[in-house]
Amino acid sequence: MDQKLAIYNTLTRQKEVFEPLHAPHVGMYVCGPTVYSDSHLGHARHGVTFDLLFRYLKHIGYKVRYVRNITDVGHLENEAGSGEDRIAKKARLEQLEPMEVVQYYSNRYHKVMDALNTLSPSIEPHASGHIIEQIATINRILENGYAYESNGSVYFDVEKYNKDYNYGILSHRNIEEMLNTTRELDGQDEKRSKVDFALWKKAAPEHIMRWPSPWSEGFPGWHLECSTMSIKYLGKEFDIHGGGLDLMFPHHECEIAQNTASEKHQVVKYWMHNNMITIKGQKMARSLGNFITLEQLFAGDHELLEKAYSPMAVRFFILQAHYRSTVDFSNEALQASEKALSRLLDAYSKIDKIEASATSTVEVNGLRDKCYQAMNDDLNSAVVISHLFEAATIINSAFDGKVSLTQDDLNELKFIFDLFLFDILGIIDEAKSGVGDNYESFSKAIDLLLDIRAKAKANKDWATSDQIRDELAKIGFEIKDGKDGAEWKLK
Ligand code: ZN
Repeated sequence: MDQKLAIYNTLTRQKEVFEPLHAPHVGMYVCGPTVYSDSHLGHARHGVTFDLLFRYLKHIGYKVRYVRNITDVGHLENEAGSGEDRIAKKARLEQLEPMEVVQYYSNRYHKVMDALNTLSPSIEPHASGHIIEQIATINRILENGYAYESNGSVYFDVEKYNKDYNYGILSHRNIEEMLNTTRELDGQDEKRSKVDFALWKKAAPEHIMRWPSPWSEGFPGWHLECSTMSIKYLGKEFDIHGGGLDLMFPHHECEIAQNTASEKHQVVKYWMHNNMITIKGQKMARSLGNFITLEQLFAGDHELLEKAYSPMAVRFFILQAHYRSTVDFSNEALQASEKALSRLLDAYSKIDKIEASATSTVEVNGLRDKCYQAMNDDLNSAVVISHLFEAATIINSAFDGKVSLTQDDLNELKFIFDLFLFDILGIIDEAKSGVGDNYESFSKAIDLLLDIRAKAKANKDWATSDQIRDELAKIGFEIKDGKDGAEWKLK
């Protein structure tokens, strides 16, 4: 491991040099989606952030087991443990079996994550497939004295836990403050304290997602699945737990309490949280009408959108900010990202067309190290991108004959783009994607058509030349006539 990665640990509130518990193996758990509706920009930021971490850890030599769950039970509309299960509600409204809802939205989630070129996790466990394990966790917490049964439900005893450990270490909240600010909610009479949260909920008669347990027919509390499944797949101590900043409290705070109450020690070494995306300064919310799903974004199908944005424009837009800073979405910002990305891809495609000189008049060594330094500094993709722009400026100047580069310089520039832009930042050139390894033959076939068109033009055979241009345009090619002949690109 030549590279020393420093990551910001939300638990300690500082950047720490990453030291895995069992190098070269790294265990990484990320809270995945609740599958009852389509994914939005928040999911994209979350997916891309932890994809960046996954890619980089693998690149610097670790063997990473990346676990990202699918929440398909017990996620109530009201986090305090009342209201209807969101998946069950959707199933009822659409007259579907709840697992049909789960499958439908899981498939759609995977599709947009693929479009964003995020790598699949190593394991993607479903909460509904781990009810037995969750019941075992509840039993351990009960045995250790940090939970109690009440009317068929089981609650976590936050005040008792807080006397022995510290409830609030992640979010830096204290229990008195929580007692003063927590509202009285349904099921309150079953709880010893209003800050207690459900580990198991007895199902109301109309609740369709239910499983047998020693306490009642019911379902597990939402926080429990992540404690249980992370420990099951990564062990009683593991390296990284990630999620969106909105999950820090109560979800992750409750996970820490459950982990400590069942295992009697902390389980997670580094907690990482990505920041949120706002839309024109506002939080995304269905009630504000600014809730844009990724499908709508890719299709340009929402009244707030001026046009469609490709998945790579969205990915690049996200990576242009550091994952811990806020990002504000607007059409202008997305269009700026789109242009910036095409400038980089344009520069990359010029590298092979530059004639190497015997000597160079500009320094390219050092750029690679600067990119590594930025990545090692808590995955600062924004700074990596600024160095890629330095590289692009050098390439453009060499292409225009203003500076000269040796073959080694050109190889180094190509290496930097291949490694940082494509492998680590995970960008793909969408114009070339879809044809994959056949790109070269594909590109030669289009060049051949353009040659025929050039000959037709030379013979003043306008019908043939127009036909080739128009037919290519119809299937998505943009043809530009320049002084050195015609150039094409996929729109
Ligand atoms: Zn979780």
